[in-house]
Amino acid sequence: MPHTFASSRLTLSDLAPDTFQSEIRAMTTECDRMGGINLAQGVCDTPVPAVIEAAAIQAIRDGQNIYTRCDGITRLREAIAVKQLRDYGLRYDPEREVMVASGATAGYHAAAMALLNPGDEVLIFEPFYGYHVNTLKSLRVKPVIVALAEPDWQLDVDAMRAAVTPRTRAILLNTPANPSGKIFSLPELEQVAAVCQEHDLFLITDEIYEYFVYDGAQHICPATLPGMRERTIVISGFSKTFSITGWRVGYAVADARWMPAMAHFHDLTYVCSPAPFQLAAAAGLEQLPPSFYTQVAADHQAKRGHLLAALEAAGMEASAPPGAYYILARAAHLPGKTAAQRARHLLAQTGVAAVAGSAFFRPGRGEELLRFCFAKQDEELEKACERLRSL
Ligand code: PLP
Repeated sequence: MPHTFASSRLTLSDLAPDTFQSEIRAMTTECDRMGGINLAQGVCDTPVPAVIEAAAIQAIRDGQNIYTRCDGITRLREAIAVKQLRDYGLRYDPEREVMVASGATAGYHAAAMALLNPGDEVLIFEPFYGYHVNTLKSLRVKPVIVALAEPDWQLDVDAMRAAVTPRTRAILLNTPANPSGKIFSLPELEQVAAVCQEHDLFLITDEIYEYFVYDGAQHICPATLPGMRERTIVISGFSKTFSITGWRVGYAVADARWMPAMAHFHDLTYVCSPAPFQLAAAAGLEQLPPSFYTQVAADHQAKRGHLLAALEAAGMEASAPPGAYYILARAAHLPGKTAAQRARHLLAQTGVAAVAGSAFFRPGRGEELLRFCFAKQDEELEKACERLRSL
């Protein structure tokens, strides 16, 4: 008799079914299969700045290919500290308060591991970025969703306050936000800060789109609000700003009390961010002039305009997002009962992939919305716009 395992023990974990392949990946796979244009994933295929590309190649040739400190090379930690001071007037000790991570994603994961316990609750604003929710679920932390008010996603202060319970440990804030493009205003941040202080909560911020701000809007780093530095874990990275999503370099900055535990958990999962790419990111921070960052915003503002016009021509309603690089468009007129069906219809008709809006909301919401990414090379974006206009 061949040996058989007790099949009841060969199962996935309880968590696995809940965090399976995201709708974004599913659309990307489907788009690749059809040879379509992918405006679904925020892959950002605009060119890498020359100084950064050259520094990465040089670093590899120079033999900078081994593990680094788990919280990153000194030169990059120092450059990040300089940047936070330059941009926000916030002073961080590069030795004890800055951690280079394998992307903002890893910085967030490490912060959640270091600061939250199973059963804790974290407030997250809706529409949300799926990783923010699923990372918490994977750690058995409970995301508590607080809806922002349509049409322009204003903070609903009463809803936020009503969501706080004795189990709440933190608020997660993504500004500028994916997918809505919302930039939290100073009065809104003051309300969030007040709740954090009244209930003694951490504020975990994801500021990966800090330079993607349009029409003169300004990103405010929430750690700059009075009393917030010690309780705010600032997370950001270079994936978007330097168009290096595949290199995996991001960071977290926070009070020295939280950093050793965060670095420990980052070490356990990632060991370190890739060494040559850390050096390249440092070169970028050190050498690119302030005009680089304003140009990034100007370029993307122009891309936003092109895509917005094409979506309108295709009968989709959308307003210009103040930040980040996505447009959340109303596509109720497309056939289908769900956003996923509408996205598949659009892909079949035009060869343009978008993400079902439902990916960013609780079940039953976002079914009339599609999210389009405009961080694409101009030629590719123009091709996608042409196809959309033909709908
Ligand atoms: N945070 C947000 C809000 C994002 O939209 C993304 C990518 O789409 C990330 C983080 C990923 O950042 P990183 O590549 O640095 O892990």
